[in-house]
Amino acid sequence: LLIQGNRFYSDNKVAQFKGTKNANGNYTVTFIEGDGIGPEISKSIKDIFSAAQTPIEWESVDVTPILKDGKTTIPDAAISSVKKNLVALKGPLATPIGKGHVSLNLTLRRTFNLFANVRPCRSIAGYKTAYDDVNTILIRENTEGEYSGIEHEVVEGVVQSIKLITREASERVLRFAFQHAEAIGQKKVRAVHKATIMKMSDGLFLSTAREVAKDFPQIEFSEELLDNMTTNPNLYRDILLVMPNLYGDILSDMCAGLIGGLGLTPSGNIGDECSIFEAVHGSAPDIAGKDLANPTALLLSSVMMLQHMGLNGYASNIQKAIFDTLAEGQVLTMDLGGSATRSQFTEAVVSKL
Ligand code: NAD
Repeated sequence: LLIQGNRFYSDNKVAQFKGTKNANGNYTVTFIEGDGIGPEISKSIKDIFSAAQTPIEWESVDVTPILKDGKTTIPDAAISSVKKNLVALKGPLATPIGKGHVSLNLTLRRTFNLFANVRPCRSIAGYKTAYDDVNTILIRENTEGEYSGIEHEVVEGVVQSIKLITREASERVLRFAFQHAEAIGQKKVRAVHKATIMKMSDGLFLSTAREVAKDFPQIEFSEELLDNMTTNPNLYRDILLVMPNLYGDILSDMCAGLIGGLGLTPSGNIGDECSIFEAVHGSAPDIAGKDLANPTALLLSSVMMLQHMGLNGYASNIQKAIFDTLAEGQVLTMDLGGSATRSQFTEAVVSKL
C-alpha cells in the first residue's frame, strides 16, 4: 500500500559503501548476534540470506565489554572486523540500568563515529492498525545530546548530566538528512526540537537546520516542537524528520507503536566509513529463548544493509518475501496477534524467496 517502490533506504547514494569482495567473490559482513532474543533472530537472518543466495559471508564477533583505563570498550577483534568489512549487522545488546558498564550500543556508535541513525517507519500493507498511513524516515543525531555520557554528582543528592549540542555534529546530521531526502526523492524535511525551553542547545540545532536548508531549496523545510509530534499521528505522513539524539530515540519507539510495534522497525547507524544496521528494539528478555520473537525488524535492517551495499536485487527479493508474508496474515508472530513461532515465520518467508 504505502511501500513506495521497494526501498526502505536509498540506492547507495548517501553513504557510499567502499567495501571489496573477498577471495570467494562475496562480501564479508561483521555479525554481532547480541543478547536475549539476538541469537534467535540472527538465525532467521542467516537462514533467509542463505535461502536467497545473497553474496554475504558472516564474520561473527564477540563484543563482551572490556573496561580499559576506566572506559568501556569492545574487544580489538570486533573493532578490527568492522573496520575491515565497513559494514556490520547487529542484534540487540542489553545495558545495565543505572549502574555498570556504559551502553555497548553507545560505545559502538562512538567507536566508529556513526553520526546518523536512520529509522524508517512505514505502515505495513495488509496489517491493519489504528493509523494505516504512517510513512516517515526519522533521522536521529547519534553522537551527542543527552547521550554525551557526561554525568557527575555535584554534591550528595544532586546530579548533573550534560546535554551537549555542537554546530559541527548538528550540521553533519542535518546535511546527511537533506542529502538522504534528495537521494530517495523525499521532498519534505522537518526538524524536531524543543528550542522553546532549551533555547541555546536546541536553538543551535534549529538555527543550523535553517542554515543547511538554504542549500537545498528544492526541499520544503519545516520545524515542529517535540510536544506536538507526540499528539498527532498525521505528522508522520510522507516526511523525513531529523532531530537531536534523545528525541529520536523516543519518537521512533512511538512511531513503531503506530505501525504495529517494535517487532517491525529497522535502523541503520551511518558513519563516513563504517555503518552498523540493527533493529530499533532491545533484547526483549521477557520472550528470549522461547522462539516467539518477531525477526522482521532485524530482517528489514539487513535489507537496509543490502541496499546500502548496492545489492538492491537481493534486498528487493527479501523485502518482498517479508511484506508478502505479513500481508497474507496467515503466519504472524505473537506481537502481531498471530500464533506462529519465529521459526515458522522464518520458514514462511523462505518459502516466498
Ligand atoms: P525491548 O525493546 O527489548 O522490549 C520492549 C517490549 O517489546 C518487550 O515487551 C518485548 O518483548 C517487545 N519486543 C521487542 N522486540 C521484539 C521482537 N522482535 N518481537 C516481539 N516482541 C518484541 O526493550 P526493553 O525491555 O526496555 O530493553 C531490554 C534490553 O535491551 C535493555 O537492556 C536495553 O538496554 C536493551 N536495548 C538495546 C537496544 C539496542 O541494542 N540497540 C535498544 C533498546 C534497548
